[in-house]
Amino acid sequence: MNTTEEKSLNFIEQIIEEDLRKEGKTGGILTRFPPEPNGFLHIGHAKSIVLNFSLAQKYGGATNLRFDDTNPVTEDTRYVEAIQEDVRWLGYEWNGPVRYASDYFDKLYEFAVGLIKMGKAYVDDSSLEEIRRMRGVPTAPGEESPYRNRSVEENLDLFERMRSGEFEEGSRVLRAKIDMASPNMHLRDPIMYRILHKHHYRTGDKWHIYPMYDWAHGQSDALEGITHSICTLEFEVHRPLYDWYLDQIETFHPFHPRPKQIEFARLNLNYTVMSKRKLLQLVNEGHVKGWDDPRMPTISGLRRRGYSPASIRNFAERVGIAKRENVIDVSLLEFSVREDLNKTAPRVMAVLNPLKVVITNYPEGQTEELEIENNPEDPASGSRKVPFARELYIEREDFMENPPKKFFRLGPGRKVRLKGAYIIQCDEVIKDGEGKVSELRCTYYPESRSGSDTSGIKVKGTLHWVAVPTAGMVEVRLYDRLFMDPEPDNHKDRDFLEFLNPDSLQVLPEVYVEPSLKSARVGDRFQFMRKGYFCVDPDSKGEQLVFNRTVTLRDGWKKR
Ligand code: ATP
Ligand code: MG
Repeated sequence: MNTTEEKSLNFIEQIIEEDLRKEGKTGGILTRFPPEPNGFLHIGHAKSIVLNFSLAQKYGGATNLRFDDTNPVTEDTRYVEAIQEDVRWLGYEWNGPVRYASDYFDKLYEFAVGLIKMGKAYVDDSSLEEIRRMRGVPTAPGEESPYRNRSVEENLDLFERMRSGEFEEGSRVLRAKIDMASPNMHLRDPIMYRILHKHHYRTGDKWHIYPMYDWAHGQSDALEGITHSICTLEFEVHRPLYDWYLDQIETFHPFHPRPKQIEFARLNLNYTVMSKRKLLQLVNEGHVKGWDDPRMPTISGLRRRGYSPASIRNFAERVGIAKRENVIDVSLLEFSVREDLNKTAPRVMAVLNPLKVVITNYPEGQTEELEIENNPEDPASGSRKVPFARELYIEREDFMENPPKKFFRLGPGRKVRLKGAYIIQCDEVIKDGEGKVSELRCTYYPESRSGSDTSGIKVKGTLHWVAVPTAGMVEVRLYDRLFMDPEPDNHKDRDFLEFLNPDSLQVLPEVYVEPSLKSARVGDRFQFMRKGYFCVDPDSKGEQLVFNRTVTLRDGWKKR
């Protein structure tokens, strides 16, 4: 391997290549994506999905999808469905069936019994508060539980009775017997099982005890034959426990391969909250319309907003992976979608805030079809016919009654080009009773038609427009950042909700669009020339289309 190639490997790839080399293999890794079905996936999860699946693709392996469904209280099949849809939409297919930690509850129970028999686990009758207190602080050893030295027989009996539902919730737990003096708090006899008389959406009422995350996770990895178990940095301090459990179990149940946990820094985005608990709060308290609200950083929200799978994958690749926490600028995500849509989204004309223009020298009743290219970035995209007429709408902001010198758009006596059409000149400004400009009277230069312009007239501005007689009318929803603060959930004594942007959604009920948009379907993406990228929202009903603005054409936040 040459040095440039070596340099371009990230630290996880280096570990994987080293592992493969040691085993004399060239591929065949198995990674997994292990979401807890207690909410919708967000852009941080997308980062993890892209990482796991792309490593597997690179090293001739596969990726399991495993629901970490060890907490029956917060989990729901609705989330299980949504998560699968999101992973597929991102463009990935997992290895074999969907897996569940709950598939392994029997096996985990058997392993726990194995640990008890080895004298490495015990039933503790202390309350959770007592256990917490006795665990102590990292700088001083904790206290051993009075139940720590129960006999194997007594532990087996009590654990079996915990399982069968004999005891009250909170009355007992099963703990691993490791080291109450360890500087790593996770090794101070961690809880393996708690009693919960709760219905589980998959295992029903079979279980009265549920495994803790650390106990379930590594063993599920091992049972599935995961080679590299990639997780976020906060699990680094759990790794000794991950390995301790496997060390014990391997004495009576060897694993080939034995999984290795590797940590990377989670994705953080500014102006964004990413914890599922907070996202759930936004949904439940009605600050947004749902998990898939286009302002949400969820995959379903980004999809509805108009993000393409490729733009999210590119973003995840571009961010790369790090070993240290950092905060990524949300404008990088917006850059990725602009970059993708610039190549793929057809250009159309829409007038968000209309001002009527009457071309006085254009014959009444006449129309003509102008040929306009669909996407200058994509020659294969062809062109379409756009009708022109005597009455048009232009954008109100494209006219100024007293324009400054550098304003290259329309003003009294000024000339501009209408995109794909003619050069016009503004002759007269009509106002309504309140003095508001209501209409412009213009003349056009017939010999200035785009593509065959012989007028010799030079203009600096080109405006988009929509012909009045053939205009369609749609609703447009403009979005701004949901939070006004770069780190909404990083303020002491202030709740993240205080930083909600009251103007994050602006609805324009009457936007004029060129008639080609009549055939647009839910999910279709367009560039509204000069206005940004837009996509058709599922709220559209029949002819009545609703568009979401995905992103503006330029990063408007730089100026603020
Ligand atoms: P949250 O903290 O948002 O509630 P979580 O970590 O509890 O998320 P899980 O469903 O347990 O959510 O996560 C599934 C996988 O996604 C885990 O491997 C986790 O490490 C990874 N993951 C979660 N958030 C991020 C993030 N912001 N960046 C990268 N990976 C993440
Ligand atoms: Mg989690």
